[in-house]
Amino acid sequence: MKSYLNFIDGEWVPSVSGKFSTNVNPATGEILGKAPQSTKEDVDRAVLAAKKAQKSWRLVPAPERAEVLYEVARLLKERKEELAQILTSEMGKVISEARGEVQEAIDMAYYMAGEGRRLFGDTVPSELRNKFAMSVRVPVGIAGLITPWNFPIAIASWKSLPALVAGNAVVWKPASETPFIAGEFVKIYQEAGLPKGLMNLVFGSGGVVGNAIVDHPDIDIISFTGSNEVGRQINERAGRLLKRTSLEMGGKNAVTVLEDADLDLAVDGIIWSAFGTSGQRCTACSRVIVHEAVKEELEQKLVKRIAELKIGNGLDEEVNVGPVINRSSLQKIDKYVKIGIKEGAKLLCGGKILTDGELEKGHYYAPTLFTDVKPSMTIAKEEIFGPVTSIIPVKSLEEAIEVNNSVEFGLSSSIFSRDVNRVFQAMRDFDTGIVYVNAGTTGAEIHLPFGGTKGTGNGHRDSGVAALDVYTEWKSIYVDYSGKLQRAQIDNK
Ligand code: NAP
Repeated sequence: MKSYLNFIDGEWVPSVSGKFSTNVNPATGEILGKAPQSTKEDVDRAVLAAKKAQKSWRLVPAPERAEVLYEVARLLKERKEELAQILTSEMGKVISEARGEVQEAIDMAYYMAGEGRRLFGDTVPSELRNKFAMSVRVPVGIAGLITPWNFPIAIASWKSLPALVAGNAVVWKPASETPFIAGEFVKIYQEAGLPKGLMNLVFGSGGVVGNAIVDHPDIDIISFTGSNEVGRQINERAGRLLKRTSLEMGGKNAVTVLEDADLDLAVDGIIWSAFGTSGQRCTACSRVIVHEAVKEELEQKLVKRIAELKIGNGLDEEVNVGPVINRSSLQKIDKYVKIGIKEGAKLLCGGKILTDGELEKGHYYAPTLFTDVKPSMTIAKEEIFGPVTSIIPVKSLEEAIEVNNSVEFGLSSSIFSRDVNRVFQAMRDFDTGIVYVNAGTTGAEIHLPFGGTKGTGNGHRDSGVAALDVYTEWKSIYVDYSGKLQRAQIDNK
């Protein structure tokens, strides 16, 4: 059994509580090991270390800070397979997806290391003679990171790498369900030579450690990815302290299939984005908006493909769909399916907890497809976060856009069509932070901003250069070399 400790001020230390939580493999029910149940006091110690370390880190030239990130990238690459195995064991996604997730962290590390030599600000002409004007990025200070279990290393990389290259220190609380991959990521930072105190890892529950991070007066920015319920609470608490928050939350993403679409391609896109990671992606396709002219054909093709999916332990290379994260998640998914049936949706396949043979030991839900779903039904509005998707028939592109935009979330949407005019209309009118054309709703690349509109976020973005906006302040600097007092807006008018 593995056992992890907190990482504070460059040391692996136990929590002051002396207590631990167990880490369970959702595919088998096997206990993998344990991680500390930390307290507010552990967070206080982490913040103290972060504060001290950040004072000198902010003065290290950004290209030199980036050298550590290049080393992080190299080590992630070297350990890609080992990390992927840990990831699948503790959160269940199939191994090929786990490898892809680690690759995302590798890509992000190289990309953000490159930012060490850019971190662009602006130089602009001054309105006065012999005067120079520019704006530069400066670190915010201490970043408190709170991350979910569904992309436990990718999301941690989206947040910690830009924070560090920009000159901040980090206090990180990973999800309770995925402590080991967090511990391994921090070991890589340590081995890469990140000075002590800059990356502090505090394991523990959201209610205790998460709240302590949000409430700590010396943590300047909270970057959170997770559910809307928790994001809202964090924003309220942090708002009282006038703290910056970057929130990435839920989705209710839709694939739109028009009557001229390549249906086989659309089926590939829907299967991948509805059932990949067992539907537990923030960008999962949980609605399929289809033109009524091709509805039946699409349904038949989808049902056939779903029947071919192999369900099981994600460590088996042949498996397509792994378990869901835990028992309460399984029950929540099943509850939504029952509500769908009760509200009049037609169940085409799936709709049950799987317990045959080995599956009995883990948390498996049958890939589920509903049809004749109305936009007003609960299953068409709320995030289910499991392998369940719903076909909603429409009569036109205009109606599809209306349905696509009718939910409280705004993360990702996609359209399958060969008509460039209609595709451009959808690209303009889908009210989501991400739009895919002739692809499913998932598959973000790290050099573009990632995040959503409406209830999905609060206007910030992870990933891409946009991530730097979260972890930096703008400082505007005027240098007057005229040798006399020049008054802007007065002396030149
Ligand atoms: P969650 O329950 O909101 O948890 C997310 C993180 O917040 C965990 O580390 C959790 O700790 C912590 N937390 C819980 N209560 C807290 C509190 N009161 N104060 C501070 N922190 C607290 O979400 P999840 O179930 O892990 O993740 C699934 C959700 O994340 C879905 O809604 C999904 O759409 C969303 N998500 C969004 C994106 C995006 O970029 N938009 C990406 C991935 C996932 P514990 O683990 O200890 O509870």
